Amino acid sequence: MSVLDVVNYGDPILRKKCKQVTDFSNLTSFIEDMFDTMYEEEGIGLAANQVGVDMNMFIIDIAHTDEKEFPRIFINGAITKLEGESTFSEGCLSIPQVALEVIRPETILFKYQDINQKWHEEKFYGLLSRAIQHEMDHLNGVLIIDLVDEIQKAKVQKEVNKIKSDSISRIKKNSSDKRFVL
Ligand SMILES: [Zn+2]
Repeated sequence: MSVLDVVNYGDPILRKKCKQVTDFSNLTSFIEDMFDTMYEEEGIGLAANQVGVDMNMFIIDIAHTDEKEFPRIFINGAITKLEGESTFSEGCLSIPQVALEVIRPETILFKYQDINQKWHEEKFYGLLSRAIQHEMDHLNGVLIIDLVDEIQKAKVQKEVNKIKSDSISRIKKNSSDKRFVL
């Protein structure tokens, strides 16, 4: 078990449409690491590409807000139906300290595989619906900053630009470090 590095806005993997999972054989330890990372960072959801892995998979745990809920793993998910509309203040582990009022559909029908490759189709609403939509956006290369109007964007532009330039210099530093590792 280990905590992984969360990549931030500016890293190109956050703009990729992630690949479907076809090999389920070695997922368990990666998923455990994702949970460790999410709890360490105090997030309620985490997508694989947020820890640099190109894979259509994400986890959510909202048990602290809804005691009927439990930690969830969603693989190869797809939203099949959207209904209604709601506004909610969202944060993102890849855009630290930035909160945006995001308008999204209220309820969704969602198809996904579990860790045993079994397919499910479930209706989700409330916080779980919102978290699934947020994580599915990640897996399609979409971030909350893309979903708000210019006025909201302008308010956080300075913070977001700083996150982006820090992220890009971190990538440059990592790739130049690697050149000397033989
Ligand atoms: Zn996010």
